[in-house]
Amino acid sequence: MRLIVLGPQGAGKGTQSKRVADKFGIVPIATGDIFRWAISSGTELGQKVKQYVESGRLVPNDLTIEVVRERLAADDAANGFLIDGFPRTIEQAAALDEMLEARGASLDAALVLEVPEEVSLRRITGRRVCINCGRNYHVDSPPEHDWTCDTCGGDVGRRFDDEGEEMVRERLRLYHEQTEPLKQHYAERGLLRAVDGEGTVNEVFDRIVALL
Ligand code: AMP
Repeated sequence: MRLIVLGPQGAGKGTQSKRVADKFGIVPIATGDIFRWAISSGTELGQKVKQYVESGRLVPNDLTIEVVRERLAADDAANGFLIDGFPRTIEQAAALDEMLEARGASLDAALVLEVPEEVSLRRITGRRVCINCGRNYHVDSPPEHDWTCDTCGGDVGRRFDDEGEEMVRERLRLYHEQTEPLKQHYAERGLLRAVDGEGTVNEVFDRIVALL
């Protein structure tokens, strides 16, 4: 199964992607996680993308497309994947279409998690994430032991790009301007599956599974 998930920041894409990928035995890929990991590890890619990620702007298309192309070429993506955070622009969507076509494959669905803006903002403000494995938490549902990840024991804290309301609003603005038009791109191909992203993690997960 090959899936992508769209939706504004705080819609629950990261949390749901990992669970859905686990259920269907496919690999979860998150471009934001790849970039944040590259930045904190000080790699060449990290140095190139740091200025964009840290200011809430989009990394240039050519760089992002190359990162995804390489990631999808890895063996573990051959049996299916769920991409969270890509494509985010029409140019990226066209590049993904081409990449898949070149290997005679296609997407099975483009999920879109829909939540009102105030829910997005509330979730982002309270969001906490494991710096090691990327598992998401919230101040209202923290890990069991003292901000140590329940899955891997890593430190759980705030994502640097979640700090500052202005930057969060800028990321939401970019979503509406650049990424929302992709809904039409996928609707025209009969792939769009809208999911109500409000409610508990389990409720939203059940809706996604029912749709798929
Ligand atoms: P995310 O974790 O998906 O919110 O992504 C965090 C940041 O990584 C974004 O604010 C962008 O700076 C960058 N980023 C992630 N995915 C993309 C993409 N597909 N295109 C451009 N920039 C991206």
